[in-house]
Amino acid sequence: MNIIDSKRIWLSSPHMGGTEQDFVKEAFETNWVAPLGPNVNGFENDIESYLGSETLAAALSSGTAALHLGLKLLGVSHDDEVLCQSMTFAASANPIVYLGAKPIFIDSERTTWNICPEQLEIAIKDRIAKGKKPKAIVAVHLYGMPYNVEAVHQIASKYEIPILEDSAEALGSSYHGIKCGTFGDIAILSFNGNKIITTSGGGALLTKDKSCKEKAIFLATQARDQAPHYEHSEIGYNYRMSNITAGIGRGQMQVLDDHVKLRRRNFDFYKKHLDHCSELQFLDEPSGYISNRWLTCIETTSYQLREGLRMALAEENIESRPLWKPMHQQAVFTNCDSYLNGVSDDLFDRGLCLPSGSNLEEDDLYRIVSVIKNVLR
Ligand SMILES: *Cc1c(COP(=O)(O)O)cnc(C)c1O
Repeated sequence: MNIIDSKRIWLSSPHMGGTEQDFVKEAFETNWVAPLGPNVNGFENDIESYLGSETLAAALSSGTAALHLGLKLLGVSHDDEVLCQSMTFAASANPIVYLGAKPIFIDSERTTWNICPEQLEIAIKDRIAKGKKPKAIVAVHLYGMPYNVEAVHQIASKYEIPILEDSAEALGSSYHGIKCGTFGDIAILSFNGNKIITTSGGGALLTKDKSCKEKAIFLATQARDQAPHYEHSEIGYNYRMSNITAGIGRGQMQVLDDHVKLRRRNFDFYKKHLDHCSELQFLDEPSGYISNRWLTCIETTSYQLREGLRMALAEENIESRPLWKPMHQQAVFTNCDSYLNGVSDDLFDRGLCLPSGSNLEEDDLYRIVSVIKNVLR
């Protein structure tokens, strides 16, 4: 097939449901074109009722902003150490550095690809022995697959270290019937353009503590004290979501469940058509785990095969991507300590993310699968 003739298939592109423009139009008509307004409150209410478990949401400008404020609210500051899942997007770790603290990276477990409970406990003991108890743990539900909530939270409470639950990729996932985003002392969501729902850019901080939500909003709106003039006793940020983008979010919340179904349909399609290939392996859900299957990922048998597949897909105008490069391998974090077992290095070598948008059509999926089968033949 000629690259110019074939439609580009993206890894994960925005998928509007239809009512988003109504909410945005209403904001224009009522002149709520401001960083506050009824859509912001409405979007927060929608998130809160979706997640349940008495979770409260503060809508912010990005998931990264939510991580930054979340770590700050957990008390992370200059010279602290924060344990962070190594296999993740850099945004999980960067806010640790914004606060002048040091990330310490923890490798993954095979069963979920997320933070390894064994390495986590080894790291906590070792840091305490070295004289500094970690201030927080950043655990991530990568690609929508929940981390081992029971084991990770048991270790965290044993050593009394709070968890920041990075649920940026896992809105719609659940663990033993409870939604991801409700487990951490603080959790975050992202509504970036490639996520399961999008506001074109945005995020949310999640908490069960009303005063924590209020404090997050206070910090996100320039930390303005009660006074007729502008009075400040703390450093603030401009991190609040706008009423326009929140309108997009309200429309997207109406199709979230559909998007989860469609993303899971993609995974099932790939698995059905490729599972018999001995060179490929899929990550199954352990019992009680439900992944939103934000991205469908495959493990190949070698780096060479992974690259062969990626390049064959690119030649057919199909976007795919290696798995997240672990943070302990990133040049920017070379001076950070890490606790490793080889799992994330191996996954990064051999793993590939396949196109996974909820707007993929069956023809697209057949096209992708046939390219992969051709390489394996
Ligand atoms: C997308 C993402 C973020 C950051 O969210 P933004 O809204 O893009 O700032 C954080 N963590 C993970 C795991 C992500 O995938």
